Amino acid sequence: MRDTRIPLDDLRRSLRPVAADWDGRQPMDRLGRPLRDLRISVTDRCNFRCSYCMPKEVFDKTHAFLPHSALLSFEEITRTAKLFVGLGVRKLRLTGGEPLLRKNLERLVEMLAALRTPEGEPLDLTLTTNGSLLARKAQALKDAGLQRITVSLDALDDAVFRRMNDVDFPVADVLRGIEQAQAVGLAPIKVNMVVKRGTNDHEVLPMAEHFRGSGIVLRFIEYMDVGATNGWRMDEVLPSAELLQRLLQRHALEAMDPTAEGETAERWRYADGSGEIGLISSVTQAFCGGCNRARLSTEGRLFLCLFAGAGHDLRALLRSGVGDEQIAATIAGIWQRRADRYSELRGVAAPAPDVRRVEMHYIGG
Ligand code: SAM
Ligand code: SF4
Ligand code: SF4
Repeated sequence: MRDTRIPLDDLRRSLRPVAADWDGRQPMDRLGRPLRDLRISVTDRCNFRCSYCMPKEVFDKTHAFLPHSALLSFEEITRTAKLFVGLGVRKLRLTGGEPLLRKNLERLVEMLAALRTPEGEPLDLTLTTNGSLLARKAQALKDAGLQRITVSLDALDDAVFRRMNDVDFPVADVLRGIEQAQAVGLAPIKVNMVVKRGTNDHEVLPMAEHFRGSGIVLRFIEYMDVGATNGWRMDEVLPSAELLQRLLQRHALEAMDPTAEGETAERWRYADGSGEIGLISSVTQAFCGGCNRARLSTEGRLFLCLFAGAGHDLRALLRSGVGDEQIAATIAGIWQRRADRYSELRGVAAPAPDVRRVEMHYIGG
């Protein structure tokens, strides 16, 4: 077997300055933000080719996905997650690519569901999926200890949905997955709709109507300029304020207070008590000030921002033979140096020309 360990001298050099300035407590970054949320990408593969994420022309048959040996194993993911919990993380989200494509994912869910906070509480454990395999897998995920789930769904109209996933996948199968998730008791269920003006913005009202009164929270996400392949244009973004106006013409809505620290969605409830919706305005109303999220890529790189150009290689550390304490100190040091706030600076500062941003399917949403 290939020796994946990195030379100890290199490692000591990289660890020393970091470990020295960490006092063992939960780290804060340079903007005073704690570390609370870890998003774990379990695969860079996907069975969809949503044009805003993995355009078909780029992610075609010639695209080289990561080999299995490059992926973090379930044991490595769980060990890393445990260290993050020690540093303050209370929420774990599995994502991808399409996480349900990762073989035996239920086993990983089981391992993560067994983790506890220092106070002995279970973590908030969830998963984001395109829903294509959910009807088949919902029960096993629930049995493994998954509490809740987020399903991405961009349209109810079958033709629009097939065009957006770009692999001709029928919307009925995703709706069946959502029903099954509800039936097995994964709750609450959230549905994420990325809204692109001119592509699916006419589906906003039908989607709201469909999920109103179902107990499912529909969240509208502004189309973002993530990665470097989706050809993002500002004129294809439907600002949340405009979307809200469209909803208000049809429904009476009341603003709700945020419930969680660092919450990304602005929440609104139907005045008649038939549920709530969320607006995620990453482009027009940046929420970097409360951003307490870290992202672990499929191959174990730690990213501090969705728009980062590079990650920190934790896999090398995990495979080097160093102890948990040193790895925790390294992560803490990385977090303490964090000053990312891309969305707040978007449009204010020009992006660094030589930085190619990481793709969404590689670090998860
Ligand atoms: N495949 C899974 C899915 O689609 O739910 C999980 C990974 S996907 C990268 C996570 C989330 O990112 C999805 O809700 C997706 O809609 C969202 N997303 C991907 N590209 C986006 C973009 N350019 N703008 C806004 N959201 C995006
Ligand atoms: Fe796949 Fe999710 Fe990206 Fe669509 S958004 S291509 S389903 S990873
Ligand atoms: Fe967090 Fe980066 Fe998004 Fe700002 S742009 S909210 S720092 S992930």
